[in-house]
Amino acid sequence: MRMITAALIISLSISCLQPDTVPADSVAVVVDSTKTKMDSTSIAKSDEEWRKTLTPEQYYILRQKGTERPYTGKYWNSKETGLYKCAGCQAPLFTSDQKFDSHCGWPSFSLPWDSAAVAYTRDTSHGMIRTEVTCKKCGGHLGHVFDDGPPPTNLRYCINSDAMIFEKKE
Ligand SMILES: [Zn+2]
Repeated sequence: MRMITAALIISLSISCLQPDTVPADSVAVVVDSTKTKMDSTSIAKSDEEWRKTLTPEQYYILRQKGTERPYTGKYWNSKETGLYKCAGCQAPLFTSDQKFDSHCGWPSFSLPWDSAAVAYTRDTSHGMIRTEVTCKKCGGHLGHVFDDGPPPTNLRYCINSDAMIFEKKE
């Protein structure tokens, strides 16, 4: 199992990062293979419980890996200063400091506020190979990370507005 995990990490790192353009100390995008078993998250809620506590839009994205339509979410164009938290469990995920205008229609960040805040899974759905980003604490689907962001990270965390709750900093 450990061998498989290591192989996944290596292959994904190669496919998702450009080693010649990403500094060694930047965040490595790795597959957290434990995530798929949902045992690395600290919140154990049944599907029914999630359905009751989330709005239909939040449930669709966080629990059913849905995607909101571009330019429709409440945060894609927000320039306010503050913290973006998980709509499922309130865990801090991203700060406005790392947000940038990617013109893709979803809130985009160059890094999570803490590398331990999110988990990564290889996603081969819809005929594409992408890296899914989930909340480390509750396992909720947030969006995907791509390697076409601005330097120095060159990463673009493309996150659904409805997966997050914004806490404005005065
Ligand atoms: Zn969460």
